[in-house]
Amino acid sequence: MSYDLAVVGAGVAGSVAAYHAAKKGLKVVLLEKERLPRHKLCGGAVTEKTVNLLKSLGITPDKQSLGLEIGNVKVKIPGAEKSTKISSGKIYTTYRSIFDNFLAMKAQEAGAELFQDTFVRSIDTGTSPVLHIRGGDEIRADYIIGGDGFYSLVAREAKLRESFPKNQLAIAAEYEIKGNFDIDAMEIHFGRSSFSYSWIFPKEDGVTIGVAELGSRLKGSIRDYLDNFVKAQTFLDGTKLPVSESFAIPMGGIKRVVANDRVALAGDAAGFVDPLSGEGIYYAALSGYLAAETVKSALQGGSLKDYQKATDREILPDLKALLRIAKLFYLSLGFSYYLFEESDILQNIVTLLAGDRVRPRDFYRDSLIFSVRKFPSYILKNVIHLFQ
Ligand SMILES: Cc1cc2nc3c(=O)[nH]c(=O)nc-3n(C[C@H](O)[C@H](O)[C@H](O)COP(=O)(O)OP(=O)(O)OC[C@H]3O[C@@H](n4cnc5c(N)ncnc54)[C@H](O)[C@@H]3O)c2cc1C
Repeated sequence: MSYDLAVVGAGVAGSVAAYHAAKKGLKVVLLEKERLPRHKLCGGAVTEKTVNLLKSLGITPDKQSLGLEIGNVKVKIPGAEKSTKISSGKIYTTYRSIFDNFLAMKAQEAGAELFQDTFVRSIDTGTSPVLHIRGGDEIRADYIIGGDGFYSLVAREAKLRESFPKNQLAIAAEYEIKGNFDIDAMEIHFGRSSFSYSWIFPKEDGVTIGVAELGSRLKGSIRDYLDNFVKAQTFLDGTKLPVSESFAIPMGGIKRVVANDRVALAGDAAGFVDPLSGEGIYYAALSGYLAAETVKSALQGGSLKDYQKATDREILPDLKALLRIAKLFYLSLGFSYYLFEESDILQNIVTLLAGDRVRPRDFYRDSLIFSVRKFPSYILKNVIHLFQ
């Protein structure tokens, strides 16, 4: 079997890549090791900017695939909390089994051949790439897109990357709990340490509750962190918990090699996740689209290496800015919280994350200037507090 493009992994990155390439007339195969709809551990928060991107490609996610529309966001640090309405942009909470299945079906409708239960076990990545499938089949393709997630086999086989270093990843754990809970906001809790947070995301039929910790800071089991967090949530008193699960999230905003002449990496395989919020779905869709576009150009005489330039231009600067915002935020949670109290900055962060009206680069510049201006009054407030 021979194709213009083989896409490994029918997650968001892979399905969007396969959809776009097939729509542009390429002969595409989409290879997924699981049977769809497949489970993927995830908070399932989908932002308006993702929906807008998909719409611009010709995919309109339906109500069922998007799930619950969230009205409010609540941020908590020890001893304080602040809520804000989502007034600009939208955030939905869904299940990835539903959302990703919807996208894989769109890829198939666009003309991509979808092979499920198809585990790619090795790849010869020369000038004529061959993918070896568990069971003995072989697939030939001019180009390969690795949308195969955090533990990307494609990245390793193409010698683009081994694993992510521990200080460039987060370990996360979650419970997906079904039931009726009286929660009126999506909650994010900070305060354990830098780059660690916990979340409570209401869903249409329950709640997803999770924790994440920087890989290099994790001591012991992430599931113990999760159980400690859950114990503090009184709304769960008496609720029978399912089995918790854990997985890893790469940290975006760090320059990495994501393409060679024949192979391009998209989504988690490339490390494209917002280091401030942990949002990976949007960047998976965006990089999947950019990878498919570059494959199309490469088939017409261009080079797949241009994908590196495209992501360095379209994705990396925003992820770098988000990494700087995250560093600024974690520098002093007390000061960050003071800014939340004294200004609309939380509303602005929600607008930044949910929609596509504000560029992270501009937000970083403005928030840096704002922080410098506000810092003296924060110090003064603390000094006054000392003498009271
Ligand atoms: C606990 C947790 C919570 C999160 N919450 C959010 C959130 O609320 N919002 C958000 O935007 N992001 C969130 N993220 C990040 C988000 O889940 C990822 O960034 C996103 O799933 C990346 O999509 P992807 O398509 O690149 O990879 P994946 O979704 O991981 O898909 C990869 C696919 O490749 C398949 N595959 C892998 N290897 C092979 C192989 N050898 N052969 C064939 N198929 C293969 C897998 O089965 C899978 O279907 C969260 C992550 C975690 C861990």
